[in-house]
Amino acid sequence: MVLSDQESLKIFTSAFSDSGSCSVTCSCGTTFYDASKPGAFEEDEIYQLRHNVEAVALQWPVEIVEFEGGYFVADCDCWKTRALQLINFIDAHDHKIAAYLNARREAAFADAKALPEVASA
Ligand SMILES: [Zn+2]
Repeated sequence: MVLSDQESLKIFTSAFSDSGSCSVTCSCGTTFYDASKPGAFEEDEIYQLRHNVEAVALQWPVEIVEFEGGYFVADCDCWKTRALQLINFIDAHDHKIAAYLNARREAAFADAKALPEVASA
């Protein structure tokens, strides 16, 4: 099954996102805010956001996507080219990645089994 870039990005976002927030500045410097809940902001804060021509008003909570040490706003486009590169790598090497994760899992089990067992009281 071949997914479109949009479908792949939706899955990637779901896998690497954190819960929403009222206002977030993306790693690229653009600030996004949830304009549907002005009561969630301090009065001067929402005033400044509304008058910031570079701030982007959304009508939903600001979702954060985190990867490679960056915090990106899901609605921003700045991270999507890099995410598609990662998605293509993951998709092209899915069996090797699964083997790698399974090998790490086995190593962790071996380490755990090597620990002395402590009797509970
Ligand atoms: Zn951005």
